[in-house]
Amino acid sequence: MIILNQHLPADTYRAANRKAVDINRIIIHHSGGGIGGLLSTLNQRKLSYHYVILPSGKVWELVSVRHVAWHAGNANGDSIGIAFVGNFEYSEPTEMAYQAGLDLIAELEMTDRPIIGHREVSATVCPGMVDLDKLRHPKMATFAPWAERAWLWGISGGVTDGKRPNDPLTRQEAMVMLYRLWQMVLNLNKQ
Ligand SMILES: [Zn+2]
Repeated sequence: MIILNQHLPADTYRAANRKAVDINRIIIHHSGGGIGGLLSTLNQRKLSYHYVILPSGKVWELVSVRHVAWHAGNANGDSIGIAFVGNFEYSEPTEMAYQAGLDLIAELEMTDRPIIGHREVSATVCPGMVDLDKLRHPKMATFAPWAERAWLWGISGGVTDGKRPNDPLTRQEAMVMLYRLWQMVLNLNKQ
């Protein structure tokens, strides 16, 4: 994918030397308005996002991910900020924009990072109706609510190692899990 550099002035973010391991989460925003005037507004208010995604699917890098952008208050330090350009209080971004978001997160090699909305860390409605699930890659660790308790039980009992929750099971893996379960039952009977 093509990412256009539109870097903001250096006084709209904190220069840093973060590595990939320093980034624990991806925070999603909507810009609230169109691209016209967005960069000058950010500049005036001393705010920044790392990336903005336009309705056409174009992606602009405003701040390098190694720097700390000012987009989510106390959550800035260990996060990156990605904003969908537009006001999505009552509508959703285009499919092209969602696809660009998926591609961008893959390009950054951050598909294993939790993706959260701005509203989860600040008192705001941002990012409105942006559907975070559409930005999550199929291989990401997502849990059906009805499966979560069983999954956690399996980890605490040593039946599963807790990895790759969404992957299919081989016959070999199924047998290992049954064996571990059987060992667990034997141990319970000894107590
Ligand atoms: Zn926001």
